[in-house]
Amino acid sequence: MDTGLYIVATPIGNLQDLSMRALEVLAHVDLIAAEDTRHTQRLLQHYGLASPVVAYHDHSDKRAIERLCEHLANKRSVAFVTDAGTPLISDPGYRLVRAVQDAGFATIPVPGPCAAIAALSVSGLPTDSFVFEGFLPAKSGARAKRLGELCDTAATMIFYESPRRVRETLEAMMAVFGAEREAAMARELTKAFETVKRASLQSLHTLVTADPNQRKGEIVLLISGARPSPTAISSDIATLLERLGRELPAKKAAAIVSEHTGLRKSVLYEFLLARKGL
Ligand code: SAM
Repeated sequence: MDTGLYIVATPIGNLQDLSMRALEVLAHVDLIAAEDTRHTQRLLQHYGLASPVVAYHDHSDKRAIERLCEHLANKRSVAFVTDAGTPLISDPGYRLVRAVQDAGFATIPVPGPCAAIAALSVSGLPTDSFVFEGFLPAKSGARAKRLGELCDTAATMIFYESPRRVRETLEAMMAVFGAEREAAMARELTKAFETVKRASLQSLHTLVTADPNQRKGEIVLLISGARPSPTAISSDIATLLERLGRELPAKKAAAIVSEHTGLRKSVLYEFLLARKGL
């Protein structure tokens, strides 16, 4: 096999979700670097693999990276895996990938499971544009600040969340996005108690409050993006409206702008009257 660092995605629950290629790479690399060696040994045992495993964490010392680069320099191939899913996605590996690339070696992706993408695919929320936010800050002030910054985001937002904090986080989300904002919760994906629910933030909050089982296991929260408000009047439209309002009766000006922007006539009319001080 080609020499390089293989970034291998592993199952997020169901052990059958290991690709044929991932299996082949894990079977044939000279060394597997793992976030948690015991966790990875369980996966290897399940598949009857005996490749050597060493620990690697992004806060491992610099020598750990140097040792892995020495393997690559000696034309030995290395795989990197985390406990579940795709390495580097809210998981270690970023420092390693950069260091290996900077040292002139190849990094080779072996794609597969990722909780964020699996959750998005069954959320029922728009998938044409999305942002991955990972874990929100644990402290309530910092979390509210980050959510506030996302308030006008038009894309679907994806968050990883701890079951201990999910209720609190839904409350913080309601405060920023409104209780009626459509959202989804994907829990225990690919496992025995897999649950996916699309509902308003308020309904999801009611669900996790009423049923403690909904606060167990691994959770992805998704929130649909902000819709442009039908009453939002940009400064360009306001200028046009006022200009027309100087030449035409307010009703006529509002009707023309409404026809061209799709904004409600009554809203434009009220806006114009307010601007004229009537
Ligand atoms: N690298 C992983 C990936 O590709 O999805 C994510 C690792 S991150 C440390 C762990 C978080 O991912 C969990 O707290 C949870 O939010 C989410 N997660 C992982 N497995 C999951 C599953 N089976 N169902 C739902 N969420 C999951």
